[in-house]
Amino acid sequence: MRTGSGDILDISHVRVTDRPLVVCDVDDVVLHFTDPFRKFLLAEGHEFLPRSFNLIGNIIASDTKLEIDADGVYRLIGAFFEAQENWQLPIEEVVQTLEVLSADADVVFLTAMPPRYGEQRRRLLDRLGLAFPLIASEEPKGPIMRRLNAERRYPTTFIDDMAYNLHSVREHMPESLLIHMMPDGPLHMMAPKPQADIVRASDWRHAEELIRAHWLPR
Ligand SMILES: [Mg+2]
Repeated sequence: MRTGSGDILDISHVRVTDRPLVVCDVDDVVLHFTDPFRKFLLAEGHEFLPRSFNLIGNIIASDTKLEIDADGVYRLIGAFFEAQENWQLPIEEVVQTLEVLSADADVVFLTAMPPRYGEQRRRLLDRLGLAFPLIASEEPKGPIMRRLNAERRYPTTFIDDMAYNLHSVREHMPESLLIHMMPDGPLHMMAPKPQADIVRASDWRHAEELIRAHWLPR
């Protein structure tokens, strides 16, 4: 984990072997985020109005209807991650699919979350039967995945709901299969679109098909 400016992110707890590598984002790919966050906000006396693809500017106090400023939004996101074990549930089919894939591949979670909430996320993933290694970092994902894979020449896959993360991995690991997975809700419909040739998986079964096809010799 990053402990101060200039330190290199410690990923030494992640052991990657000589097999295909599957790196998954967590929020809205492995665990539901947008829906439970909206419910959490309601319980805290706030409403989320998906007027644009942004949390800042779109959260208001339920009573006064006044917009919450950026610092307030960051505090609410932090409070949600602090309490994530009470709110976040797995995406449909993810537990079974990653279990099956992990017989043939190394699975690693790469979550763009402040590292200080890593313990809560670790406990939640373990409780759900998702005991794969976890990296929590807000640094760009492409360079992290590049370091993780090092010089291995086995097929690699990266799955995320955010275009900028997919593009970061494309830039640093152009040979990787990139899979776009996102909720169908109004917020993500307004999100920046990934480059046209990045395939969107409709669900985890579809993702597994794409991943296995990528493993076939070409
Ligand atoms: Mg995400």
